[in-house]
Amino acid sequence: MKNKTEQAPGEDPVQAQDLPAGKLSSWLRLTRRAQGATDEISVPCGACTACCQSSYFIHIRPDETQTLDRIPEALLFAAPGLPKGHVLLGYDEYGRCPMFVANKCSIYEHRPRTCRQYDCRIFPATGLSVGEDKALIARQAQRWKFDVDTPRERRQLTALQAAAKFLREHAACFPAGFVPTNATQQAMLAIKVYEVFLEYAYDPEKAEHREQEHEIAAAVIAAYEKFEAGQ
Ligand code: SF4
Repeated sequence: MKNKTEQAPGEDPVQAQDLPAGKLSSWLRLTRRAQGATDEISVPCGACTACCQSSYFIHIRPDETQTLDRIPEALLFAAPGLPKGHVLLGYDEYGRCPMFVANKCSIYEHRPRTCRQYDCRIFPATGLSVGEDKALIARQAQRWKFDVDTPRERRQLTALQAAAKFLREHAACFPAGFVPTNATQQAMLAIKVYEVFLEYAYDPEKAEHREQEHEIAAAVIAAYEKFEAGQ
């Protein structure tokens, strides 16, 4: 859903070779900064169009009038749980966005903000799997290779993956609904709260660590609230 949405007809939407994902620390800083903003995220994903063909519901906000003007109303429906005016664009029986026509986005210049901000590097960064219904993105996610060169970047990567694992395995320690069931949203939550795991080297095999579960969950909630307040 990024820089390029054109690919040759019949071409595999995901290529085989590794893709440089950039320096982990830079990517993490920019990704955290982009949350809540309206800016486009630059993702060097080449000709990959996996995210346009992966059974995603695309959220479109009421202020995206240029986008809404270009999508037939019949393709949109109210976004559950969100205020009036927020809509979702669905997908066809092959998981393809209806605006993906002749192997490219037919409204590329006016594509939704959700598409402009999608970045499947969140999966290799957090170690989360994208889900069985998104095989193309899973393949693309495996191609990304971050530069993790410094001790700080190694700690960041460990903390990101520990955050994602803790959220996934300890949803019951949080208020209902705090940990999303959707892998993309789980990864974004892990990115927002990862700093907690720079401090806590949580190891569920250790009894003394297991006793810290609720303390860690409270720290995660506090980190999330701080992050959101800083937007
Ligand atoms: S609107 Fe559809 S086709 Fe266009 S970038 Fe988004 S997901 Fe891809």
